[in-house]
Amino acid sequence: ATTYDVVIVGGGSGGIACAASLLKRRADLSIAIIEPADVHYYQPGWTMVGAGVFDPQITRRTMAKVMPRKAHWIRQAASAFQPDSNSVTLDDGTAIAYRALVVAPGLKLDWKAIPGLAETLGRNGVTSNYRYDLAPYTHELVRKLARGRALFTQPPMPIKCAGAPQKAMYLSCHDWEKRRLLGGIGVEFHSAGPALFGVADYVPALTAYIERYGIDFQPGSKLVGVDGDARIARFEQGDGDVIERPFDMLHAVPPQVAPDFVRSSPIADDSGFVAVDPATLRHPTWPNLFALGDVIAASNAKTAAAARKQAPVVAVNVLAALDGKAPAAAYDGYGSCPLTVERGRIVLAEFGYGGKLLPSFPTWLLDGRKPTRLAWFLKDRMLPPIYWHGMLKGREWLAGPRPIGMAPNGMAR
Ligand code: FAD
Repeated sequence: ATTYDVVIVGGGSGGIACAASLLKRRADLSIAIIEPADVHYYQPGWTMVGAGVFDPQITRRTMAKVMPRKAHWIRQAASAFQPDSNSVTLDDGTAIAYRALVVAPGLKLDWKAIPGLAETLGRNGVTSNYRYDLAPYTHELVRKLARGRALFTQPPMPIKCAGAPQKAMYLSCHDWEKRRLLGGIGVEFHSAGPALFGVADYVPALTAYIERYGIDFQPGSKLVGVDGDARIARFEQGDGDVIERPFDMLHAVPPQVAPDFVRSSPIADDSGFVAVDPATLRHPTWPNLFALGDVIAASNAKTAAAARKQAPVVAVNVLAALDGKAPAAAYDGYGSCPLTVERGRIVLAEFGYGGKLLPSFPTWLLDGRKPTRLAWFLKDRMLPPIYWHGMLKGREWLAGPRPIGMAPNGMAR
């Protein structure tokens, strides 16, 4: 049987970007990508679909189209890891052998953890931008609602794109505001967490929008049940009490957990996500095993922007591992969350490990702590082509990997 130089589990944002980056660096590598899906999604676009800005079609491509030409696509799901014998088992029981493994199957949206939610999604005014097929329904509900109550929910961390639950809310509110309907619509934001956003520098700008739109922000309020037919949502409060809120529209974001086959494997840590060194993204036990994207047990913001920076780091370190050398590149925890506070303006959160601000632009050009038109332009016009033609093709002009021991400006420390 073939032993691939590199096997990659998952052909999403992280897996494809890493494969492209590896092949850019070493064209003759044998790479297999294990990926069961026929479609690859640009999920960051779903916020824009939910607001009626993007056509859903621009957020999807066939998997065949994004697979690097030189990679071998195994069209199945991985189901188990045998890191001691350097192999991955597929759904049909086949074992695939590797010299180095990259784990990137994303996370699991746990819709079923909220009783009643899955049954009513797409009906009874219940929607979520976290699914391709439902994001257009968000826009439909916003267009149709003239008065009543709209609830937006956020589950406990970690979730992918921590800002996305409120992005949907701000864009909906802005739509109602422009059509002079907002006064008749009671908007509530129920978040399981204590603060509007995990990095304090961005909270003042967001708070200003909470006030402008008259949103009732309920921290420590966790969605625990939905009765779609009765249009009632249940929230557990900090003190354990459960309250009921009737709604006309509910934008729900599901709890997010590690995929089952990862959680039950030896490569997961206690959280269920893949254990990695936060800088090198290498597993602490198996030196030829790496992971990136939403599946890693690191404290960075789970975003495609993070995967964009992680992909070349993993590529460099995988090649070092294949050559019997120590990891040579480090990830600083960069993640980015463009908070769409109104149609036309964005608060561009960019930060690394420990909440350290890591802006891509000088403050005089773009201050991410304030809503700017330039950041909207980036999200609306620049980021989709950067994703499809830059990140997924291994073109790294915006995200070259940083060698270990180097400061971000490339100077030795
Ligand atoms: P994914 O891109 O989800 O890919 C995982 C892949 O693994 C999938 O193709 C899946 O089919 C495959 N897979 C699953 N199970 C298996 C298996 N058993 N075997 C093999 N393959 C498997 N990020 C930003 O940077 N900016 C944003 O503004 C932003 N907004 C977002 C808004 C929404 C509504 C959502 C949902 C996400 C948003 N994100 C944003 C987050 C971003 O989409 C993710 O962080 C990113 O896609 C993570 O990449 P990944 O490769 O880890 O996972």
